[in-house]
Order: sequence, then structure tokens, then C-alpha cells
Amino acid sequence: MLHESHLSFFRQLLGDAYVLTSPNDLEAYGRDWTRVHTPNPSVAVLPASTADVAAIVKYCNRENLAIVPSGGRTGLAAGAVATNGEVVLSLTRMSKIESVDTIGMTMRVEAGVTTQQAQEAAKEVGLFFPLDLAAKGSCHIGGNIATNAGGVKFIRFGGMREQVLGLEVVLPDGEILDLNSGLRKNNTGYDLRQLFIGSEGTLGIVTRATIRLTAPPRNVQVSVMAVREFADIPKILGVCNRASVQLTAFEFFTREAHEIVLQHALGARSPFAEMSPFYVLLEAEEGPNGAQVMEPLLEEIFGDELITDAVIASSSAQAKELWGLRENITESIAKHGHVRKNDISLAINQLTDFIADLEPIVHAAPKDMQLVIFGHLGDGNLHINYVGPKTQDFAAFQTRARVVELQIFELLGRYKGSISAEHGIGLLKTKDLHFSRSPAEIELMRKIKGLLDPKGLFNPGKIFPG
Ligand SMILES: Cc1cc2nc3c(=O)[nH]c(=O)nc-3n(C[C@H](O)[C@H](O)[C@H](O)COP(=O)(O)OP(=O)(O)OC[C@H]3O[C@@H](n4cnc5c(N)ncnc54)[C@H](O)[C@@H]3O)c2cc1C
Repeated sequence: MLHESHLSFFRQLLGDAYVLTSPNDLEAYGRDWTRVHTPNPSVAVLPASTADVAAIVKYCNRENLAIVPSGGRTGLAAGAVATNGEVVLSLTRMSKIESVDTIGMTMRVEAGVTTQQAQEAAKEVGLFFPLDLAAKGSCHIGGNIATNAGGVKFIRFGGMREQVLGLEVVLPDGEILDLNSGLRKNNTGYDLRQLFIGSEGTLGIVTRATIRLTAPPRNVQVSVMAVREFADIPKILGVCNRASVQLTAFEFFTREAHEIVLQHALGARSPFAEMSPFYVLLEAEEGPNGAQVMEPLLEEIFGDELITDAVIASSSAQAKELWGLRENITESIAKHGHVRKNDISLAINQLTDFIADLEPIVHAAPKDMQLVIFGHLGDGNLHINYVGPKTQDFAAFQTRARVVELQIFELLGRYKGSISAEHGIGLLKTKDLHFSRSPAEIELMRKIKGLLDPKGLFNPGKIFPG
């Protein structure tokens, strides 16, 4: 329970302007992109340095105050949501790009730098930061690390786990750890850095990171293809792999997703005269010496009768327009209706069988509930969204969607798939962790949490079932 004396401590440390208690601020800082829980933090504090973070954490530990670490609040698992009078600790003010090493190809940033700022700073020196996602303008590198974000370039560069070379974290007792110091090679016992990546703010607060940059990919070519049968999509991926094409994205969406984007995204146009059940967006690097890869690739895919139509972007403006068809899905479905989201993954060679097994579940779902599916198919990652009319009561919609979701998770369990490929568990999926993790694994994770945070003050209620 927060008292006036706690607020005085925060105000003395940070200044009045950075201790927020107005209802509007608490509403904004207490929630993320999900709209399922009612935000109810006691205060939002905005430190300016690692020393500030450590001082706040030490004080909260002494006073038994729970902390919710907060980044750009674009999370889709309610990980940054504060529902129970917690202190929200936002990294927003810690937004400096501290250095760029063009020879070692690394960048040292504070946790509140946005993904887009990191991308732009890399571009300025002729390099490339490969994490890319539609929320890049708002999400933070700290949030990307805490969620082990994946994104649309995962197929080529991996996720956040692969990009972090060094990590500074503040532990629940206020201790500051500097992990791996930006080294590329280091075999000196357990890699503690990896423990904090994807831990959703439950083990430590990320305050600083050294991230990996790469040489920019060669010019990329973008194509959208219309596909009749889902089973043909993994086959298209197979053709790309055998042709040694360097893919930088392999995304897919269904007709339902496409129609919703055309309805809600400003200026969106379908590249085809007729609708198709499925679409693939493929991005690939040009070959050595500027060789075209897309046309010969499409010829082969057409020859194998895997697609019914295709378009290749002839300019960067058209490439952006085609990408918009994929990247605007999340925002468009949010405008279209109530949404419950799943973010599952399977081994790629099981996708076709899984989708066939999904068919009867989709068929039996309530008629006013659309299942809108899209995702990073080249990584085996499908976003399944249950979309219902906004005229329906939200709680009633969630209950009905949950029935369908549980059937899908049961099915997924049989395939040994994951109930969260990239969004995380947060508050939303704690009850479902057992579909993807064994009791022994969950017990071990709880022990690690207990060791680092014996009072359970860092992001309580997240990841583990209560
Ligand atoms: C339109 C849209 C598209 C998206 N596309 C993708 C996608 O393609 N791939 C993908 O992986 N995700 C995607 N997301 C989800 C989201 O953007 C990512 O999970 C992102 O990494 C969250 O970063 P954030 O800074 O917004 O974190 P927040 O939402 O603020 O927090 C997320 C979690 O991290 C913790 N946290 C935040 N900062 C810190 C810190 N400094 N230290 C410790 N813990 C911290 C929070 O407590 C919370 O548990 C998308 C979201 C939207 C809205």
C-alpha cells in the first residue's frame, strides 16, 4: 500500500514532474496494447539513470512495494499492465544512444531507446539493426529484450535473443549486473544474460544494452502472392530454400485478414482483381551483382502451380504499400471488433496438418466470431485472432472466445507447439503455460524467480499461474 511518505521519497529522488499520480497518467502507464484488464497502479515513476532505477528498486524492496517495469507499452500479453496498486517504473526517459561501434558493429543504448531510433542510428552510419516490427515507433529496446521480440525479419536474423551482446540489469534487491560487456565470444559459465531476455520484467529491470548490428542486407525485393490451398504455402518456402534465395521475410495472411485491412487501413488497396483464400508476402535480397531473384523464383512457383497470381513491387513506394497489407492487420482488426489474440508456433513441417485439424474447430466456432489468421509463417509462427462484433458485451465475447481458444491449445499441445511464439505470457496466458511447459520446467522457473526475487515484488502475477 502506497503512502504519502513513499511519494515524498520518489519526488525527492526524481523531481515532482517525474512522479505521476493523475488518473490520466495512471490509466496510460498502467496498461499496454491489450485492453482486457482495468489499470490500477498507485504511481508511475520515471527515472533518468541506472542509479535512479537502483535507488527506487532498493527502496521498494525495503518498503515491500511491487514494481511493474514499463517500456513502450505495446505488449500484447498484458505484461506491462498494473492492476493492483503497483509502482510502474517507466524507462521512457532513459532514451540515449550512447555509442555506435562501426568496426565491431555494435550499439550501446539505454533501455528506453525505441526500436526505430536504433534502426535509424544504425542506418546513419551505414549499418543495420535487424529487429523489425510494426510497433517499432513506440516499443523500447528494453521491452524488446524483456519480451524477446521476434518480428518480421526473424527468418533472416533471429529474434532479440540473438541481438543482445551485453546487458545491464537491476535486480530486485537493487544490485546492478553488467552482463557479457558486449563480447561476441565468452564461455565462462552460465550465460546469465539469456536468463533475463524474455523474462518479462519478472527477474530484473533492463537499463542498458549492447546490441548487435549487421551490414545492411542487399537491396530487397518484395512480392505478394495469391494462394489457393494452405498446404501450398510451406511448399513455396521449400522452393525458396532450395533456390538458395536469401529470404528476409516470409509472412502470410488469410482472406479475412486482407478484407479487414482493406476496410480499415487508410489507402490500402488489394494488388489483385480477385480475392484469394491465402496470401504470402515474400521479401528477398537481390542476388550478387544486383541479380534479380524474384522473377525466376516466381516462375518456378507458378510452374509448380503453388500460386494463382503474384505481384512484384516495382518501386520502394509499392513495396511499402504491399508491406502495409501485412503490417496494418493488428491495428485494423482492433478497429474492426473485439479481439482475443493467440500467438502460437509449430514446427514448420507440421503446419499443414495443424491447419487441417483446426478446420473443424473453426467450423464449430460461434457464427458471429471470425477467426483471422496471419503471421510469420516462415518461422512457424501463426497469429490466431478471434474477432467479434463490438456491439457484443466485451466480457461475454472473451468468455466465448476462450472456449474456442482452449480447443486450439489442446490441439497445439498434441503437436508440442508453443502457446506464445513471441508476445510472451504476461497476465493473459498464465493459466495456459502448462500447454507448452512441463510441470518440472515450471517448477524450475519458479525456483529461479524465488531465488532472484524472494519477496515476489517484480511484476507480480506475470508468467506463473497464481
Ligand atoms: C501493431 C503491433 C505489432 C506487433 N508486432 C510484433 C511482432 O511482430 N513481434 C513481436 O515480438 N511483438 C510484436 N508486438 C508486441 C510488442 O510490440 C513487443 O512485445 C515489444 O517487444 C514490447 O516492447 P515494449 O517496449 O512496448 O514493452 P512493454 O509493453 O512496455 O512491456 C512488455 C513486457 O516487458 C517488460 N519490460 C518493459 N521494459 C522493460 C525493461 N526495461 N526491463 C524489464 N522489463 C521490461 C514489461 O514489464 C512487460 O512484461 C506488436 C505489437 C503491436 C501493437
